[in-house]
Amino acid sequence: MLELHCHTTYSDGTLTPAELVQAAAAAGIKALAITDHDTLAGWEEAIAAARQYSLEIVPGVELSTVWGDRSLHLLGFYPNPDQLAPVLQDHITGRKRRAQQMLDKLAALGYPVDLPELGAGMAPGRPHIARALVNAGYVQTAQEAFERFLGDEGPAYVQYEKFLATDGVRLLRECGAVPVWAHPYLFRGGPLEETLTALLDAGLMGLEVYHPSHTPGQIERLEALCDRHSLLKTGGSDYHGPGEAADQPYALNRFNLPLCLLLPLRRAAQSLVPQARESGARSRSIGK
Ligand code: AMP
Ligand code: ZN
Ligand code: FE
Ligand code: FE
Repeated sequence: MLELHCHTTYSDGTLTPAELVQAAAAAGIKALAITDHDTLAGWEEAIAAARQYSLEIVPGVELSTVWGDRSLHLLGFYPNPDQLAPVLQDHITGRKRRAQQMLDKLAALGYPVDLPELGAGMAPGRPHIARALVNAGYVQTAQEAFERFLGDEGPAYVQYEKFLATDGVRLLRECGAVPVWAHPYLFRGGPLEETLTALLDAGLMGLEVYHPSHTPGQIERLEALCDRHSLLKTGGSDYHGPGEAADQPYALNRFNLPLCLLLPLRRAAQSLVPQARESGARSRSIGK
């Protein structure tokens, strides 16, 4: 079974990579993608932990971008970490600035909280702030924190620093990663087909068809779009750990996706490698 969308404590998940790997093995998963928000820092621990099981780690990332003034998430599979990690460092710094702005807004509203210290390569997100609000006793659940303060229309919400989705697609491809639009029906910044056209022009290669937020009808429409545009189909549980109300209580291995979906993804990544090497060489020579 295949699971292509999971978070760890390196972003806003509640399980460490080793704990996630253990849970995935127990759930019958044979290939597990680590797709933390804007960081690759969880891969190493996951790969080491996976050695004890017959479990393959698919290295990935979930890149936070903006389109139509709203968040748009891109999954990137098999990026070259030497190329992508230095760029992501700036995105993590941007996430830290944004988290501080949300904390400032909360303090101004009368709900002061602090975030726990985050180690190197760890990316803060709204679920961290939601948990801090629970711990401070201001709300009962993280879900309530989103409803009252942190949701996209909430009084403490701050958008990501501007990084266009089309630039995200290009960045992933330049780093040898297969760019896939994550949970397209969660996007609120414009009509799906219009946005898809822009992303396709930038080089998008797949859609996350199977996501817990999608209805059966939406899944059918996404499957049809993939067929029409020759796009890869991916899917995953968007797992953030057990029993966290604000972290969408999606179960691991929710879709029982067949392993055969992985082969075209791997092939697509291989097709990008020479191109990525070339553009890496080009930017190095420009840098000189
Ligand atoms: P961020 O990237 O910091 O904006 O945080 C995004 C994450 O917050 C998502 O991956 C979800 O885990 C969580 N999230 C976003 N919106 C909601 C919501 N309305 N209720 C609960 N969790 C949410
Ligand atoms: Zn998340
Ligand atoms: Fe997402
Ligand atoms: Fe996610």
